[in-house]
Amino acid sequence: MLENKSEVKRFEKRSPKSRQFSKDSSQFLPGGDSRSTSYYLPYPLIFTEGKGSHIYDIDGIKRLDFANNFTSLILGHSNQMVSEAIQSQISKGLGLFSPTVAQANFARRLCERVPSIDQVRFTNSGTEATMNCIRAARVHTGKEKIAKCEGGYHGTHDSVFISVRPRRENAGDIRYPIPIPETPGIPKKLIEEVLILPYNDPLGAETLISQHANELAAVIVEPIQGTGGMIPATYEYLLALRETTKKHGILLIFDEVISLRLAPGGAQDYFQIMPDLTAMGKFIGGGLPIGAFGGERTIMSLFDPSKIEGPVIPHAGSYNGNPAVMAAGSATLDQLTPPIYRRLEILGEALRAGIRELASEIEFPLQVSGTSSLFGIHLTNHPINCYRDTTFGDDELTHEIFLGLLNEGYVLSSRLLGCISATMTPADVENLLEGLRTVLTRQQLKLKK
Ligand code: PLP
Repeated sequence: MLENKSEVKRFEKRSPKSRQFSKDSSQFLPGGDSRSTSYYLPYPLIFTEGKGSHIYDIDGIKRLDFANNFTSLILGHSNQMVSEAIQSQISKGLGLFSPTVAQANFARRLCERVPSIDQVRFTNSGTEATMNCIRAARVHTGKEKIAKCEGGYHGTHDSVFISVRPRRENAGDIRYPIPIPETPGIPKKLIEEVLILPYNDPLGAETLISQHANELAAVIVEPIQGTGGMIPATYEYLLALRETTKKHGILLIFDEVISLRLAPGGAQDYFQIMPDLTAMGKFIGGGLPIGAFGGERTIMSLFDPSKIEGPVIPHAGSYNGNPAVMAAGSATLDQLTPPIYRRLEILGEALRAGIRELASEIEFPLQVSGTSSLFGIHLTNHPINCYRDTTFGDDELTHEIFLGLLNEGYVLSSRLLGCISATMTPADVENLLEGLRTVLTRQQLKLKK
């Protein structure tokens, strides 16, 4: 079926080296890679270099990169100050098996920026950050169940890799979603410990939380669902979660792995709603592997091994707080000044408005989601307020348009989600809109034939 798609043919013509490389590397790596989310058919392009807003593939083709390692590269590729900070740390040593100055500096910067965080700890991934938040909530409250939203992605540990992108026909009533594991291998008993909340439905979520209040340790939520479709939560929804959890002695965890880029203090700063714990990751590592979690001192003291009284949570990890990553993180935050956030927001708004105008001008059925520098394109007429709405999209057409954009020189995620980086200009936004016009028009011509 794939062979009949015109964009696939164009794609294959332009990527013979990627095709061969994928084939060869699949001998040693299942699927040719270590990351399922960067795989797509017929084979992923092999990128060899990134510079600023651009990325280059093994066949020598240059593209504008709106994926930015799924929002991790807020300053674009190979930022000079970040590279210099890493180089400087490399010359001083990469693993010192002790607390480091680089770590303390970065921790102070994060605590100063993110309003609800008194103390922070570092991990190697966002997955570990949310895992530690949940563990802390269980110890702090003495309860075990957690609630997460349908469409919410918090990494791949067992407690949260549930109902991220369930099939609509299996997911139950929209107000009472059924927990659906994302992968085989999650124990049934663990799935039963997870309550799935409807996203952006304050009353629905409040009702479910109240019904399970005695068992719930935490509610975890992305203030803007990334993997679920770049769908912002409404202020009313986050406020409802904040008030209900507070009322019932449940901890509220904001997963700001993506949403921290909304403002200097993240989405909590933007919405002025404070969680008890915050998970972070992606761009704060300046492109290197990172996660972090933080919150009030009373909760974070659970991780203090010098504590004499009360429970202590051991938090090990050979690369936690690795000094090169810490240096990269500090060099990144130093460059993220309020005018940069404003610029990211202006370009994001221009892009979303431009896509909407284009769709209405050429009468192409699509929806645009996102806020600030984040955007998602959904090939449906269905308004997008939660993940369930995105399931009305046309997956085959999405794939064609994704490949079409690659063919025209633009990289988005394979589900047409993307972000603006600080190196981008209004001309880059205009270029993407032109590329999208070409690809959408090609699809229309094909449909008319
Ligand atoms: N939380 C959110 C909101 C994410 O988007 C991601 C990754 O995409 C994670 C957690 C997991 O982070 P990592 O991939 O670093 O484990």
